[in-house]
Amino acid sequence: MKFYSTNNTSHQVSFKEAVFNSMPQDRGLYMPVQIPRLDEKFLNNLDGYTLPEIAFHVAKNLLGDDIPDGDLRTIIHDAINFYAPVVSLEDSVNVLELWHGPSLAFKDFGARFMSRVMSYFLQEGEKQLDVLVATSGDTGGAVALGFLGVPNTRVTILYPKGKVSGIQELQLTTNGQNIRAIEIDGTFDDCQALVKQAFTDPELNEKFRLTSANSINIARLIPQTFYYFNAYAQLLKQNKDKVVFSVPSGNFGNIGAGILAWKMGLPVEQFIAATNANDTVPEFLKTGIYQAKPSVQTISNAMDVGNPSNWVRIADMFKADSAELTKKVIGFSYTDEETTQAVEKIYSNYNYVVCPHTAIAWQALKDWQQDQPTGKATGVFLSTAHPCKFPDVLPDHVSKAIVIPEEVQGLEEKIKHAASLGTDFEGFKKYLLKNG
Ligand SMILES: *Cc1c(COP(=O)(O)O)cnc(C)c1O
Repeated sequence: MKFYSTNNTSHQVSFKEAVFNSMPQDRGLYMPVQIPRLDEKFLNNLDGYTLPEIAFHVAKNLLGDDIPDGDLRTIIHDAINFYAPVVSLEDSVNVLELWHGPSLAFKDFGARFMSRVMSYFLQEGEKQLDVLVATSGDTGGAVALGFLGVPNTRVTILYPKGKVSGIQELQLTTNGQNIRAIEIDGTFDDCQALVKQAFTDPELNEKFRLTSANSINIARLIPQTFYYFNAYAQLLKQNKDKVVFSVPSGNFGNIGAGILAWKMGLPVEQFIAATNANDTVPEFLKTGIYQAKPSVQTISNAMDVGNPSNWVRIADMFKADSAELTKKVIGFSYTDEETTQAVEKIYSNYNYVVCPHTAIAWQALKDWQQDQPTGKATGVFLSTAHPCKFPDVLPDHVSKAIVIPEEVQGLEEKIKHAASLGTDFEGFKKYLLKNG
């Protein structure tokens, strides 16, 4: 399969090139030149396949012969080695738990698949791949644990000092091996600015083979389609074949993958884009005007994005048919206060604890269902992270009810290793050159 730039469809590259470049020079994003439609037999019998089987079939259709079957199977089995169960909370309200991977967030799907694809494409004797990543918390953990021990790669994570949760910091700083962390005395935006500048610095690019691991990489998008098919498969087993997905959204990679799955033939009645106060997309869906804004800080901080980078992919998939887009995707946005109330309601209604991002998706699903004739479609909201990653923003009585997963308990005993730097680029550059 070839991939084109959303800014210039005649600019086409191989999958390998799209993975290592992340972003085309023209600042569009890579998309498959043709979105394949999966065969009816597969789609109608999804409930007969396991998650890795589904993943292979979907990836094979998207990638063609870019990776031979045997190697693709190995990559998938190694990357997607955890479950994504659909759990019923009440009639027509189900949660798709995407946090059973090592970093306890859905980003494990993308990061683990991408790291193995990159490692696969690195030929023997090639220069080590240096992954630079800025994180507000979740991305760094997924990328660190995704690349941990992957041969011929090294990851450098920049995170804002004092602005990630305790568990997130442990996931970033206790890995050792090919992973190193730097705490920056600044904000997430400062971290991102340092990484961006590094990519344009001639001296650093001369010395290192730099690559980014952010959510615009096509190798992160593709594996996120797998769990939509797999969720549908689980519902088919209960004879439910009409589904609506509510997706907590920041950079819109997660919901973009869902829309890609739908384009490939997955029957989805409706997508709900659920955001916090960063409501650029819900506003667009309401008014037809896309107005990027500076991001505002919220308690669901993994979604604090004022100009979602994956939106161009979604627009591209609808080929500017905005009537179809606004029919298929509906937006809801919530304040922090409403988010906290949703966390409390979910806890008191179902005795179930969610992270603030997940709570927003639940609330959006409930609000959407309110206006629908009952029995129209089965609701699924995506749970993007385990609540133990965000204990400080949950109400105390809910936070106390969190059951900390075993993997995390082990982390507490490990020693934190992180360099400390300021926000000036020269200091960061010196660090990279000195520790090359
Ligand atoms: C990254 C993240 C999101 C936002 O996902 P996008 O793909 O950027 O829309 C939502 N929730 C959590 C917990 C995240 O880590």
